[in-house]
Amino acid sequence: MHSTKHPIAIDDNVATVHLSSFHYGAPGIGRKVYIQAALHADEVPAMLVAHVLRQELERLDAEGRVKGEVILVPAANPLGLSQVIQGTPFGRYDLATGINFNRAYRHVADELKASLAGRLGTDAQANVALIREQARRSVDAWEPKDSAGTLKKTLLAMAIDADFMLDLHCDNEAVLHMYAGTPLAGAVQPLAALMGARVLLLANESGGEPFDEACGRLWWDLADHFPDAAIPPACVAVTIELRGEMDVRYDYARQDADALLQYLAHAGVLDLPVRALPEARCTPTPLGAVEPLEAPHAGVLVFHKQLGDRVEAGEPIADIVNPVSGKVSALSASRPGLLFASTAHRHLLRGMHVCKVAGEESFRSGNLLSS
Ligand SMILES: [Zn+2]
Repeated sequence: MHSTKHPIAIDDNVATVHLSSFHYGAPGIGRKVYIQAALHADEVPAMLVAHVLRQELERLDAEGRVKGEVILVPAANPLGLSQVIQGTPFGRYDLATGINFNRAYRHVADELKASLAGRLGTDAQANVALIREQARRSVDAWEPKDSAGTLKKTLLAMAIDADFMLDLHCDNEAVLHMYAGTPLAGAVQPLAALMGARVLLLANESGGEPFDEACGRLWWDLADHFPDAAIPPACVAVTIELRGEMDVRYDYARQDADALLQYLAHAGVLDLPVRALPEARCTPTPLGAVEPLEAPHAGVLVFHKQLGDRVEAGEPIADIVNPVSGKVSALSASRPGLLFASTAHRHLLRGMHVCKVAGEESFRSGNLLSS
């Protein structure tokens, strides 16, 4: 094992920031795995899972049981972690620009469409190697204009050529759920089963250039552009939402870390006794089938339903109660689905996010992620 400190913000006249990564196994001996936790900074369940992973990976590495390369970034956003506003952590957006830390990653496919013209053939393995080399070059050439950009480039440079990219987040309040590219459905389903995910959301492109798509979508974009070349979806990039922000528990962290290690054992990266996959708790559904509900007016949010409940179309999920006007509005989804995530606030203003219901049939398009 070795660790690396990456300079992120190093101007002499302001506070300096570094990012730490931990490296196990060795490059080139097998498949490459990149795991990062808490890209939105104050996603504490993810950091606790990373802590357990780190202990386990250190032990496995010392025993020579890492059969590839594993990079772990246990706190992926030191810039966001240092943002606290009057006692409240604020890690989702860069305070300097208002930009979400999980948006605006460099999508290298457009550049590669030009640089790879006429150079790809029917040998998938050779294509993958060439695409990775060009992708690394493209990320290296990225010239960020601010510290958040430097952080994004540093993270992407470690992940862009990985076989597996596991991005550990959490929601405000939620059951465990995951996001992945549609072409990765088969590769991600065993992980969803191991993690006990209640929802697995798929999209070819969800909009806004999040980190997982910078690593994953590159491959199917190039496959579409070069239809005669053999280009597999060579990076299993997945975003894992480890329940809600208050679900910080050793038993969850151990269980989640164990599921991730089992997945890597199934993939041949870790030499661990492999257990049979548990029965999946969900089937993949389109991200375009997620219905977000908003508050129709200001008021107190009171749920009738619990996270993980199935709801029918028109069935009351929650009320918004205005204590001054006395108005009570029942909220329901227009389609049946699973109530899987909600706000952590209980007084909302008009238009604020209430909850999300995962249905089965896609009915939304365009920008599919919440801001
Ligand atoms: Zn997040």
